[in-house]
Amino acid sequence: MSSMINLLKKIYPLKLAPVSEDTDRAVEILCEELPFTIHEYQSGLEHNGWTVPKKWKAIKAEIKKDGKLIYDGMKHPLGVAGYSTSFKGIVSLKELKKHLFYHPKLANALVYHCDYYYKQWLKDWGLCIPYKLYKSLRDGKYKVDIQTLFEDGSMKVLDYFLEGDKEDTIVLNAHNCHAAQANDDISGVVTAIETIKRLKKRKKKRKYSYRIVIAPEHLGTVFYLAYLPKKTLKTFKYAIFLEMLGNNNRLAMQESFSGNSLIDIVAQHYLSHNFPDYYQDKFRKIVGNDETVWEAPGYEIPCISLSRWPYKEYHSSLDTEKIIFPERLEEAVEVVLGIIEIIETNTRMKRHFNGLIALSNPKYDLYIPTVDPSVRNSISEEQKKWNYLMTCLIRYFDGKTTILDIALKHNLEYSRLYKYINKYKEKNLISFID
Ligand SMILES: [Zn+2]
Repeated sequence: MSSMINLLKKIYPLKLAPVSEDTDRAVEILCEELPFTIHEYQSGLEHNGWTVPKKWKAIKAEIKKDGKLIYDGMKHPLGVAGYSTSFKGIVSLKELKKHLFYHPKLANALVYHCDYYYKQWLKDWGLCIPYKLYKSLRDGKYKVDIQTLFEDGSMKVLDYFLEGDKEDTIVLNAHNCHAAQANDDISGVVTAIETIKRLKKRKKKRKYSYRIVIAPEHLGTVFYLAYLPKKTLKTFKYAIFLEMLGNNNRLAMQESFSGNSLIDIVAQHYLSHNFPDYYQDKFRKIVGNDETVWEAPGYEIPCISLSRWPYKEYHSSLDTEKIIFPERLEEAVEVVLGIIEIIETNTRMKRHFNGLIALSNPKYDLYIPTVDPSVRNSISEEQKKWNYLMTCLIRYFDGKTTILDIALKHNLEYSRLYKYINKYKEKNLISFID
C-alpha cells in the first residue's frame, strides 16, 4: 500500500493514453492498491460515435534542419501529440507549423495534446514543442521523421465496489489517460483510492455503497456506462468527479446539471462551513470532464466535481510532482469523507416525549445559554444562533425533518449539529429513524 504522494509519483510519469502499454502498467500498479475489477473494451468498438482507440505508442520523433537534429520528441512523454500518425518527409516551415503544438504562456514547457484520441478520423501527425523553439524556427526545409505504432488492444476501466447496507451507490470518478500529468488527474486517482481505503475502515456500518471508477476521460466512462448491466446502473445515485486536487489553491466545487441534488446541497454546506474560501459555480463552468457522461440523458446521475482549478501548469509538462502538496491531497480526502459523512448520518428523528423539556436540568444537560441581563453575560453571534436552534429543535423531532434540513435552515455546521442532536438520542428523548 502506497501513500498518496508515492502512488502519484509511480503513475504520473508514465506514457498514459486511453490505450497504451504504460496505461496497462498503471492498471497493474493500481490493482496493488485495491482489488479492482477490470472492464475491457476492444480497440475499434463504437458507441454513439465514440470509438475505443488502438494501443498507441511513439518510437521516433525527429525534426532536422540542414542535417542537424533540432528536436527529439522522444525525450518527454508529451513530445509527440497523442495518437499522432507516422510521417516521414521534407516540409516547408509553413507546413511544419500546422503540425506543431505549443503552450504560449509557458515558453519552455510542452503542451499536452489529446485531440486525436477523440477525433480519430483526423488521422494526422503532430509534435509538441516549446513555444521558445517554435518562435525561433526560420524559413527553410525541415525533415520530419515520426514513427508511431497502432495495434489492437483494449481500453481498461477500473471499478472497485464497496458494499453498504443499501444498494444506492455513490461513485467516485477520476481519469488516468493523460501522459505525464500529475495533477490532472493522478491527484484525483490517488484521492479516490485513499478515500475508499478510509471508508472501508469506517467504524460505523455504511448505509450507502461506494464505487471508484478510474477510466480514460470520456471514452472510459462512455463505454463503461453503455455496457453496465441496467440493474447496476439503477443503483448509481450520485457521482463525484475528482481532479486537480494536489496544487496549492483553494477548492472549487462544480455543481451537477440540476445544481440542486442532495450531493450538491451537502457539498455546498460542507465546504461553506469548513473551507469558506472555496469557490462554486454551475455545471461545466469550472471544469470539463466525465460529468457530461454521468449526466447524459438516460443516466442523469447527478455529478459534482471537486478540483483546485485553475493552476498555470495545466495541460503542460510542468504538471509534475513539483506542484503537488501532500497536505492538499490529504485535505481533498478529508473533504470527500466530510461530504460522505453527512450523507451517511443524515436522518429523521422520532420524539419520545410531549411538552417542553427542562433542558438545563443536569439529568439532560442540553441547554445552550443565551444573553441574560440578570447574570450580565455576553455571548457570540454564533452562540445566539445555537440558542435559537435549541428553542426550535424539539419541533423538528417530527419524523419528517432531517438533521441536514435543520443545518440548512439554521445555517449551522452539520457535524456539530449532529453531535448536539445525538445527545438527545443518548438521553433517550428521541430515536433516529433512517
Ligand atoms: Zn485534462
